[in-house]
Amino acid sequence: MFIVVRWGFFMGKIVVDRFNVKASLYLLTHAHTDHMRGLRKGWSKGPILCSEETGRVIQALYGVPKSLIPTIAPGEEIKVFGAVIKAYDANHCPGALMFKVEREEEGDDKGKVEVYTGDFRLNDRMRGILHEFEGADVCYLDMTYNNPCFMFPPQSHAIQQVIEVLETCEGKDSFVGIYNIGKNKVVKAVSKHFGVPVYVPERTYRVYQALDMGEIVTKNMEDTCISAYSRGFLEKPKVDSPLFYKISMGYTVIPTGWACIMKPRNRRGRRIEYVAYSEHNDYYELQEFIKTIKPKKIVNFHRGK
Ligand SMILES: [Zn+2]
Repeated sequence: MFIVVRWGFFMGKIVVDRFNVKASLYLLTHAHTDHMRGLRKGWSKGPILCSEETGRVIQALYGVPKSLIPTIAPGEEIKVFGAVIKAYDANHCPGALMFKVEREEEGDDKGKVEVYTGDFRLNDRMRGILHEFEGADVCYLDMTYNNPCFMFPPQSHAIQQVIEVLETCEGKDSFVGIYNIGKNKVVKAVSKHFGVPVYVPERTYRVYQALDMGEIVTKNMEDTCISAYSRGFLEKPKVDSPLFYKISMGYTVIPTGWACIMKPRNRRGRRIEYVAYSEHNDYYELQEFIKTIKPKKIVNFHRGK
């Protein structure tokens, strides 16, 4: 599918996952905060090109007007500001995209191909389109787990492990580490398996509503004994938090790629279990991606994270 989009008559700069600079078009791979630096309430700097799901999330969280959110679906191309931009499913959080940008404007960059992976995890569907990235001039790459010690099981296996851990809780309060957006597959599977919604804080609830996944979560703690919060909140609940006692007496499972280097631990008498669930590539998937597409240059945008 090929769409030509024009906003006004000016030609200008395109930036990806960055909102604290002036640009004519902002590309957003997905709605994780480390990819939205500079995006604030009252946004009016310019159009943000993203998936429909990501668009709904940034409307819900930042009130970005719909008129400033042109959307693109995986497989679609847009020709704008002297570039052809194509989107691909990133197999990360809901709505996450990868972009290929091919420069068409006259000048030194004419014909230059850049791939912006955002965060992603290789799967068989993606393997089928990797030839489209082959020989890219620059690949801005998610290298979060670029170490041979990171080897992840399929997500379905990890989700099953999370459920098995929660089954041992026997109706006690139990907690799962998630993000506002991301690890939704875990929440969905847990809700389905136990037949109850998962309690999430207000901001996370708004994101699930925006993603049409509101039925698997609740804002009412009385509805369920399973709650989901951020990993940091669960690992170190603040002593003055009204939830401190509940979390301290409960059982916590953290699905994270970092599980490969973490051990189950007891913190102040409570057990925290880590499960190697990841929405990023492990080291071996990353190597496969690089060897297949053979980019001329790689930029690790997570360096220094
Ligand atoms: Zn991410």
